[in-house]
Amino acid sequence: MAKIKVALDDGHGTETPGKRTPLFNDGSFMKENEFNEAVVKITGEFLKKYDIDVIYVASEKTDVSLKKRVDMANEKKADIYISVHANAFGDSWNDANGFETYIYSFDNSNNVKFAECIHNKCIAATGLKNRGIKAMKDFYVLKYTKMPAVLLECGFMTNKKEAELLRSYEYRKKVGNAIAEGILQYFAIDKEEVLLTIDEALNIIQKKCVFDDNTMKYLQFYKFAESMIIRLAEAMI
Ligand SMILES: [Zn+2]
Repeated sequence: MAKIKVALDDGHGTETPGKRTPLFNDGSFMKENEFNEAVVKITGEFLKKYDIDVIYVASEKTDVSLKKRVDMANEKKADIYISVHANAFGDSWNDANGFETYIYSFDNSNNVKFAECIHNKCIAATGLKNRGIKAMKDFYVLKYTKMPAVLLECGFMTNKKEAELLRSYEYRKKVGNAIAEGILQYFAIDKEEVLLTIDEALNIIQKKCVFDDNTMKYLQFYKFAESMIIRLAEAMI
């Protein structure tokens, strides 16, 4: 079977005007792309473990046009397309909140099924208000992609509580992993089938914990070291 190809779109470039949170109390703010980019990377890393081809349609820092993003996915014959965004209502803090998913229309049952897989995993993982799956004919990336495509609005940058989530690594990881799990579900890939090899696991632990080589050796003396190391590394990625 040919490798599954997943196109990941981080929404906007870092310099897209207006796409950011209002100012937090300390005067800082988060650009939407910081969230989008972190999430697609987490999703991509997750998928690579399953031997899935990941296509980042906008890996540059500059603003890549929507047409370029879509053209790349179409040319590379991606099987599915996911565009990750953070929502906004107005440009100052307010109460609008929740997670919503857009598809082009409800006519394509495959696309609906794909959206349900992703959306439901994200709602379960984040616990955000479920704003549902909605049809939108005006979004370029949904209109011109030739494969099932979704556009996710993963919470509101203009809601203070959700903005705090959007800029946290924990929340980004929840969303990134949930998207990947939704993709596995859509393609009926068993999540338990793939575990890290012991060498991959050791590498991950050493990198994340900054352990020296001796510490890594001691870690492996433990009686059930191998399975523990693999589980530990899995929890870290
Ligand atoms: Zn956006």
